This record gives sequence, C-alpha cells and structure tokens, in this order.
Amino acid sequence: MKDYEQFPPIIIDHAKGPYLYDVDGKRYIDGNSSWWCNLLGHCNPRINAAVKRQIDSLEQVMFADFSHKPAIELCEKLTPLLPRGLTRFFFSSDGASAVEVALKMSFQYQQQTGNPQKTRYMCFSEAYHGETLGALSVMGVDAYYRAYKPLLLDTIHVESPDCYRCKYGKQRETCNAECFEIAERYLEKYHRETCAFIVEPILLGSAGMKIYSPVYLKKLRKACDRYNILLIADEIATGFGRTGKMFACEHAGISPDLMCLSKGLTGGYLPMSLTVTTQKVYDAFYADFEERKEFPHSHTFSGNPLACSAAVEVLNILKEEKVLQTAGENAAYFKKIIRDRFCGMEHVGDIRSIGLINAIELVKDPKTKEPFPPECRYGFRIYREALKRGVLLRPINDTMYFNPPLITKRNDMDVMVEVCADCIEKVLSGDPPETDAFK
Ligand SMILES: *Cc1c(COP(=O)(O)O)cnc(C)c1O
Repeated sequence: MKDYEQFPPIIIDHAKGPYLYDVDGKRYIDGNSSWWCNLLGHCNPRINAAVKRQIDSLEQVMFADFSHKPAIELCEKLTPLLPRGLTRFFFSSDGASAVEVALKMSFQYQQQTGNPQKTRYMCFSEAYHGETLGALSVMGVDAYYRAYKPLLLDTIHVESPDCYRCKYGKQRETCNAECFEIAERYLEKYHRETCAFIVEPILLGSAGMKIYSPVYLKKLRKACDRYNILLIADEIATGFGRTGKMFACEHAGISPDLMCLSKGLTGGYLPMSLTVTTQKVYDAFYADFEERKEFPHSHTFSGNPLACSAAVEVLNILKEEKVLQTAGENAAYFKKIIRDRFCGMEHVGDIRSIGLINAIELVKDPKTKEPFPPECRYGFRIYREALKRGVLLRPINDTMYFNPPLITKRNDMDVMVEVCADCIEKVLSGDPPETDAFK
C-alpha cells in the first residue's frame, strides 16, 4: 500500500482487444493478459454477445440436482479436446478452489481404494497453485506461504527443474530430464505415504515463467503409475493455447489423473474453474447412499450459467477462428524479435519462450547468473517506466515477461518489445534507486 502513495493505482475505464484504457483515455497494451486470463481480447464481440444472450434467459441456479444447457454444452465440447481419459467434470468458482478439489479428491480416492496410509502430497519446490490454505501447502514460492507456515499441511517438496541453472550442464531441448533423478529419490522414499503429485506442466509460471523438458513429465507419469500416486496437472495458467498447444500436457503426450482449469477457461471474463478427472477416480466415489463415499464439496456459484456461456463461446471461437494456428505463426515472429533485441544485452541472463509466453530474466552478472539484490526492485522500476509508455508488463522479481492475449497482432508485439528493451536500458543504466518507494 505504501507503493500506492507514490504510484496511485491506474483506474481502467474500458478495454478493447489487447488494449486497456484508463479514465483519462490513456491506452495500455495488456502484455500480461490481465494476469494471464484474458485469452481472446477484452470485450470480444462474440463472447460479449454470448453472455448477453445468456443473462436474459438464466443468470444463476443451484448446481446440485439441477443443471443447465451451457454447463452441459461446455462439458460436451471440452471432452474431445482434453487429454485422453479426462471425462468427469467438477465445477468450482476459481483456480485455488479447483486445486483444493483436486487435493481433496485424490486423498479421498486413496482412502476409498484401500490406501489409507497415502495421506501426503508431493509438489515442486517452486510451485504455484493458488493461495487458499490447501493450495498454499503445495506452494513453493516462499513469499506467499512464509507467514502461514504453521498452518500448512506437511507436504513433500521436490526440487523443481531449473533449466537456466541446470546442475547437470544440459540443454532443455536435448536433455533427458536428468534432474528427474531428484524426484525419483523422493518417490522411492515417500511413495507409500503419498496420495498425489501436483505439478504445473511444462511451465512454472509464478516461479518466473520457467520452462522444463516434456521428458520430465513423461518420466513423472510413469513413476506415478508405478507407485500408485495420482498425477494432478494444474493447467490453470497453461490451458487453452498459452503454450502453443491446447493443453501443456500435450507437449509430453501424457494424461494426468486430474486436471485443474480456470483463467482462460472463460476467456478471462468470469470466475469459474473445473477439476476434470477420469472414470477410474469417479468410480471410487460411485456407491449407494449408505456407503458414504460421496465427494462432499460445493461452492455457491459452481457452474454459473453466465460463466459457462462465456466458456462455450471461447471454445467456439478457438475452433472456428483457428486461433491457435494464427497465434502459433505469430509466436515464431514474437520469439524472433525478442531474441534479436535482447540477446547479448547487458544483464540479460536467460530468454525463455513457449507459445506467446516469452520471459527475459535479468541478472547482475550473466556469467555467474548472480541475481540483482531484491531491494533494487529493478523489475518493478522497469514495469513503472513501461506503464508510462503505455505497456503493461508486470514482472516476476527481475524476470520481465510477455504473456499477451492469443489475438495480439505483430505491430503490438513490436511496440511491447521496443518499450521493454528501452525501459530496461534506461533503468539499468541509471543510478541505483534512492527514494523510499523502492525500498
Ligand atoms: C492463477 C493460478 C492459480 C490460482 O487461481 P486463482 O483463480 O487465482 O485462485 C493456480 N494455479 C496456477 C498455475 C495459476 O496460475
């Protein structure tokens, strides 16, 4: 809140496509898709029309014993797009809730299939799965969970893959995921007590847009099968084309036992999430009433019809307008101009690209990969500079990244890259910060 004294929040009045406009009419290119959720542009005419149609027929109804057309249509349309075997849907209202559902469901699955000793979760040491208490328990990003540690579950944190600082001296494109041996050691030691392993497939978003090898996921899938551990893929950030494929699991050709979806699910319009699972998991809960095997979990706004109508239209647009194909062509262009502009720049340590997501990790010394001291807040200062010039690029520490809506055009990519590079040069060549606001 102290930052706001120097930099009051920007009040947004309206938006169109990749652009946000504030109350003074100043335009910003939404380079982070309003926190990774806007998929097909703001105020997309087709999604707007779909939600308007829906609001005049049904705005909300309880989602137990009752259902409605947009929810049914959404599940029908999503099933053939999902990795094989994911055919059972559970609705919630946001990403963290979808993760809570996956955690509870996988635990209960093991309880009800003869494995009561499997009570712990495994996760990556740099994972992000949301910020409710269960989700925080499988979190690796220290800043989010530090204050709540005494409240959290006793989970097993496995050192996550880090291709920039690879201990094995390998390249992501050619490695055999040698670092999986770390996970393998934990799995050998703890598999008897582990009910599920939760991962962000291919892309560790909040850890700084860190990308890892699909081979890792293949090995993890095999190991989970071997040890009867359910694999939860949190595709909340990666789903719906963000990594160039419909779902990031496709890069590895694997199917998880549970998948969490939100953010792009509704095009970033309305809060809704899904936990999708297999017939096998579903069957562990399927029983006569007296057996008490049900999954007792609900949210008031689960399956909200307006959110479902937006989600159905998103799938229609993705298909009819060949969005992924065009975005794929533009992704190659985006990657190239980013490499041309940032490669070899002072303090650029690593450049990571997948789909339209491109990250530039700034370090004090690219040779040693030593980061800047956090109190310099260089990323934050570059972000402030870029906002002045009409580009929204909210960094993760000193990792600047682009994660724009899939419909972003090349001329806006040009502008974002130029502004980001200029602002990096300006901030990093200036004097170290002195004012209180940067402390
Ligand atoms: C955003 C995000 C979440 C949490 O979703 P919320 O809707 O913010 O609760 C969980 N996992 C991943 C990978 C995310 O990016």
